[in-house]
This record gives sequence, structure tokens and C-alpha cells, in this order.
Amino acid sequence: MKRASRHYSAWSLLRARLSGAGFWRPLWTGNRLQQAYDVVVVGAGGHGLATAYHLAKDHGIKRVAVLEKRLVGYGNVGRNTTIVRSNYLLPENHYFYEDALRRYEGLGRELNYNIMYSPRGVVDLALSEDDFPVLARRGNALRLAGIDAELMDRAALEKFVPALAPRRRRRFPIVGALVQHRGGTVRHDAVAWGYARAATALGVDIIEDCEVTGLHTTGNSATAVQTSQGEVQAGAVVFATAGHTGLVGKMLGVPLPIETHLLQAMVTEPVKPLLDTVLVYVAPGHAESYISQSDRGGMVLGGHIDGFPSYTREGAWHRLEDVVQATVEVLPQLGQLRLLRHWAGTNDMTMDGSPIIDRVKYDNVFLNAGWCYGGFKAIPASGAACASFVAKGAPPDLIRAYRLSRFATGHLLDEPGYGPYPVKL
Ligand SMILES: Cc1cc2nc3c(=O)[nH]c(=O)nc-3n(C[C@H](O)[C@H](O)[C@H](O)COP(=O)(O)OP(=O)(O)OC[C@H]3O[C@@H](n4cnc5c(N)ncnc54)[C@H](O)[C@@H]3O)c2cc1C
Repeated sequence: MKRASRHYSAWSLLRARLSGAGFWRPLWTGNRLQQAYDVVVVGAGGHGLATAYHLAKDHGIKRVAVLEKRLVGYGNVGRNTTIVRSNYLLPENHYFYEDALRRYEGLGRELNYNIMYSPRGVVDLALSEDDFPVLARRGNALRLAGIDAELMDRAALEKFVPALAPRRRRRFPIVGALVQHRGGTVRHDAVAWGYARAATALGVDIIEDCEVTGLHTTGNSATAVQTSQGEVQAGAVVFATAGHTGLVGKMLGVPLPIETHLLQAMVTEPVKPLLDTVLVYVAPGHAESYISQSDRGGMVLGGHIDGFPSYTREGAWHRLEDVVQATVEVLPQLGQLRLLRHWAGTNDMTMDGSPIIDRVKYDNVFLNAGWCYGGFKAIPASGAACASFVAKGAPPDLIRAYRLSRFATGHLLDEPGYGPYPVKL
């Protein structure tokens, strides 16, 4: 306390003001766009920033630029509901997301930035006798892969999540749950800021207000990108533009199996601590929804996509209503709370719900996309793997299944419930 009060004293503020040094140092400096780079990364969301960071850190590629048409963190990386977990059913997915979760566990230290990782547990509720064996199957698959998963019956669940104890009448029974204890939440924009600062320290140029509008090519290679600030030569180009991937496909002249859909989130007025875990549920008659309580006390709610392609970032009423109804059916005690805000982001939905990390059309053009509504939790693994692919020219084993050609060959990674269609559990 003593140190803090000395640090923020009126005198130190005045001295900082008078010296012109400023009190806060910017996390990343406003770099000037150079004429040429070894790698140009398009999009300063989580995936673009993490890719740039690993290109510089792991592979010693120093001439890297991240070009962002708006601001660092303006996209989905700063709009999501902050949930991280690795409890996917398919091996291709659960090993990848487990790599990401392990990296999240040490990311604060690695970036020397407090990302507020909170392993509060992610609890998938079984709301009927039929749901329970489905969750048990997922849990078994995870445990066989060495990933933590605990199946809880109702009594154990009510101990773990007292808010679910049946003080009030619920419309349907809660039978049990599958819990991943290491899952939880991570402060979303801290991830963007932490990667941006660490990448800058390694010499990466982060250029905001710089939209990539075209690609110059010769034969099988891209040579430069056209931007709103001029042309930039590039040894390789990585597109990590999330909800704008369809436009990238248009730019490349490649039809991509991706649709842009809106995903909403909302937050209630703050209340006293009630829920110290993340709940995920598919209430009868509703799409999947999830809830956690923020450090400020607000209940953060999310659900399924709105269901029609859009770039508007204005969520539709029907989905908001669906999420609220489902939530009140699971936690009736929240029925009197008022919603404070809701917002939306544009998600790059693949038709099988799994991502694409691949070389596209040209030898030196890479696509990092298709994160649907689960890409925040993937960022550390995606950045490391994508950087390795670009630097070494071949995809690491972890992401081999995420190639684009799977949509032509039929080797889809159809993770139940993660694509554009609401599938139960
Ligand atoms: C409401 C909501 C809740 C979510 N909840 C979760 C969750 O709890 N857990 C989870 O794992 N995932 C969640 N997600 C999904 C997750 O946020 C995204 O999958 C992930 O953030 C996408 O990757 P990104 O961070 O790189 O994207 P973004 O942050 O969207 O970055 C892409 C960037 O590219 C820029 N760009 C686009 N086109 C161009 C161009 N031509 N030139 C230059 N720049 C360009 C954009 O401005 C943007 O900044 C949620 C998403 C939303 C919207």
C-alpha cells in the first residue's frame, strides 16, 4: 500500500506531467509502415498477434508486421465471453485445445502480463437422463487422452456449484455434469495487449488503421499486399482476419467454406458473488448457452449464433431472449436481474465447426481462420503452430487435420454442436 500511494502521489503525477514523459508508457509503439517485410500478418486479433509473436520469438524472423484495419483488440478477441477449456470430443480437437490450455496456464509469466487466468472450472450440465451418458462418453475420451474431466452426479454437483442447489423450483431436473477443473476464464483484451507488447519488444511492427485491400502475385507466389497506407512487399502473408475471412476468400479468388455469423454476449447488473465457475447448458427447447460471473459481479451470458450471415455486429432480439430464457430456467434466482449491455462479434463459421490453418492458393499465403465461436481459447496454440508452419513450410502435427482440403475430401472434423447448426451436446 505504501509503495502504491507513493507511486501515485500528486507530486509524481505533476512531475510526470511537467517533464512531458507521461505517466503511462504505451504497451506498443506506433510503428511506421516499412516498404518490405519477411512476413505480413493481416489482423491484430489474438491469432494474428500470437502468430507474429511466435514468428519473432521461436523462429528469429524479425521483419514481421501485423496490419490491422482498426485497432488492436477491436475484433472478437475483445468481444468474447473469455472462456477457455480443452474438453472437445474429437482427438484432433482435444489435443490442439489442450496444447492451448497448457500454454494459457503459463502465458501470464511468458508475456510478463497479467492475463487473469482463472481456472474456476467449466461445468457442462446434463439436464436429462439422456444427456448424462453423452457427457460420460466425452469425459472418457478426454481422460483417455490424459485431459482432466470429472463426471459428477447431482449430489456432487450441488456441492461444487451451490447456486444449483434446488432452493427454487426448476422446470426440469439437473442430472449431473461433466467438469473440467482447469478450464475457466482469461481476461480477453489482456491477451491481445500482452501479445502486442511482447511482439513489439521483439521488433514486430504493429500498424493500426491499415486495411489490406489486395494481393500482388507472380506465378505461385504473393509478392506484396496492397493496403490503405500503400503497397508493402511481403515474403509471406498470413491472413488472420476471423469474421472477415469471406472477404479474404474473395480477394484470393478462392471460395472458402466459411460464413460470417453474429454471436452475441450480454452482461447483467453486478450482484454479490454467486457463481465461481462457468456453466454450459442446453436447456430443453433452447440452443446452448453459458454463464459466468465477472470479477465486477455481472453475470456474463452467451449462446448460439443469431443464425443468419451478417457483418452488422448488432445482435438480434430472438437470440438474446433465447439465452435469457434458458438461463433463468437453469438459475431461476437470476430472474429479477436487469441486463446492462449486450454486444456482438462477427464469427467465421466453418461448416464442421473446426478451424482451418493452411496454405491457400499460393506457396507463401497462409490462412488462419474458421474459429467459429471458440477461437479465443485456441490463441496460444494457434499462434505457435501457425508461426511454425510459416517458418518451416510444413504444418506441425498438431494442426495437420485443419487443412482446407478436408472439405473436398470429406474428412470433416464435425465436433458436435460447434458448427453453425445448434446440435444438442
Ligand atoms: C460474443 C462472442 C463470444 C465469444 N466467446 C468465446 C469464448 O468464451 N471462448 C472462446 O474460445 N471463443 C469465444 N469467441 C470466439 C473468439 O472470440 C474468436 O473465435 C476469436 O477471437 C477470433 O480470432 P481473433 O482473435 O484473431 O479475431 P479478431 O479479434 O476478430 O481479429 C481479426 C482482426 O482482423 C482485422 N481485419 C479484418 N480484415 C482486415 C483487413 N482486410 N486488413 C487488416 N485487418 C483486418 C479485424 O479488424 C480484426 O481486428 C466469442 C466470440 C464472440 C463474438
